[in-house]
Amino acid sequence: MSAIKLNIKKEKCLITISRSVQDVFSRYRQVRYDDSEACGILIGNHRVGGKVIFIKFATIPQVKDIRKRNSYKINSVQHQSFLDKCFKNSDNEDVYIGTWHTHPENDPLPSNSDVKDWKKQYMINLELFNRMVFAIIGIEKTKYWIIENGNLNLLQEGSIKYDKNN
Ligand SMILES: [Zn+2]
Repeated sequence: MSAIKLNIKKEKCLITISRSVQDVFSRYRQVRYDDSEACGILIGNHRVGGKVIFIKFATIPQVKDIRKRNSYKINSVQHQSFLDKCFKNSDNEDVYIGTWHTHPENDPLPSNSDVKDWKKQYMINLELFNRMVFAIIGIEKTKYWIIENGNLNLLQEGSIKYDKNN
């Protein structure tokens, strides 16, 4: 194996996306002109001393969420109860990582209200985690933003791994 491949120390953060999360994203991608936005929360755990975030589950839209073509409003109650179950079943390892939602555009960019909401989520959970991940699923591309030490950054493709098996 080449030295370059082993040189992952320089990576600020790596995220791994589970098979089931990939499936949720492809299921709700707004490929049809009348598909509504979808949203949910990301649940997972921090590995390798917090350097790697494993995104294990994504909750799917719930009946009380409001979904429109260009907007959504999440009703946190049902998403929260799924999170509570995951937390219990994993011996308190699986936690709230962030949120995901879809956009009816090929290469998605966060709106002002997305950024405002992400920062709010980060501030609310700051005592628990210093790092959160937010995904936008566009028609063609899926992009991830990370808030770390208060800074919001787009995750580069090299920092994202798609798990093929789990
Ligand atoms: Zn948005």
